[in-house]
Amino acid sequence: MGTLMRSVGEGRIQAHEVAACRPEPFGGALMDVMVVEGNSQRLDGGAMFGNAPKAMWSRWVEPDADNRIPLATRALLVREDSGRNILLEAGIGAFFGPDLRHRYGVVEDHHVLLDSLGAHGVGPGDIDAVVLSHLHFDHAGGLLGTWASGTDQALVFNRATYVVSEAAWARARAPHLRDRASFIKGLPGLIEGSGRLDVVDGDRSATLGPGYRLHFSNGHTPGMMLAEVEAPQGPLVFAGDLIPGVPWVRPAVTMGYDRYPELLIDEKQAFLEDVHSRGGRLFLTHDPATAIVGIERDERGGFSALV
Ligand SMILES: [Zn+2]
Repeated sequence: MGTLMRSVGEGRIQAHEVAACRPEPFGGALMDVMVVEGNSQRLDGGAMFGNAPKAMWSRWVEPDADNRIPLATRALLVREDSGRNILLEAGIGAFFGPDLRHRYGVVEDHHVLLDSLGAHGVGPGDIDAVVLSHLHFDHAGGLLGTWASGTDQALVFNRATYVVSEAAWARARAPHLRDRASFIKGLPGLIEGSGRLDVVDGDRSATLGPGYRLHFSNGHTPGMMLAEVEAPQGPLVFAGDLIPGVPWVRPAVTMGYDRYPELLIDEKQAFLEDVHSRGGRLFLTHDPATAIVGIERDERGGFSALV
């Protein structure tokens, strides 16, 4: 049986509105899909927009005096009518010590995701599964507790099964020199040691069940896994770092962090055609203002965000 769920409103959702309201249950028997904000970041705009010149990207996002742009690291919480809570990603969290926190532009020093979940009455022990698109620290750092001097890192979701693709898991355990700094050294060992790891190699996960369909993309990092939930309004897909925010819905716009930009563009084109043809929407983890968008297709076959 498929898992039914509802999403929070239609079209564009402002982060502050989502944080302020809990949606009404949909018909009583279905489930909620909630946007939960994590820690925010400021990163170099040039690195975030790959080969796009500043004259172009600065029209989309205004950089600060240090050329940095604001970014969210937000998660999606699926509250099933079965009582399960499924968290799609964990954001960057607050695991960095002061030096790295400053280097990577993490704005808040507390664990915003845990506060956002708490505002919905959900504690870390209430999360049944966490789905990770990949294990870069701005997606998986929130699995760890807030940094404290002299304290070992530990997983905060003490009951959750961690759902990861086989290729993303392999990459996290043995990163390439180019992306080694994007991974958290001790994290795979902690996840493995928990005994609650579900490594996925197809479009379904035994942990999640048939209500969740998994897409794969290799252009950003090998085995990035994008989870789709079957909302009554149509499919809702966690777009991960394939489409981190509104400007990146355009297929030709990539990030400097992408491993294989041409592959990513081809994957994005096919992904957008598929999701658009099914009336689906995208969940954007890094867009500072907009969590969920539709997809618009122009007469020349290009795509843009419908906000
Ligand atoms: Zn990434």
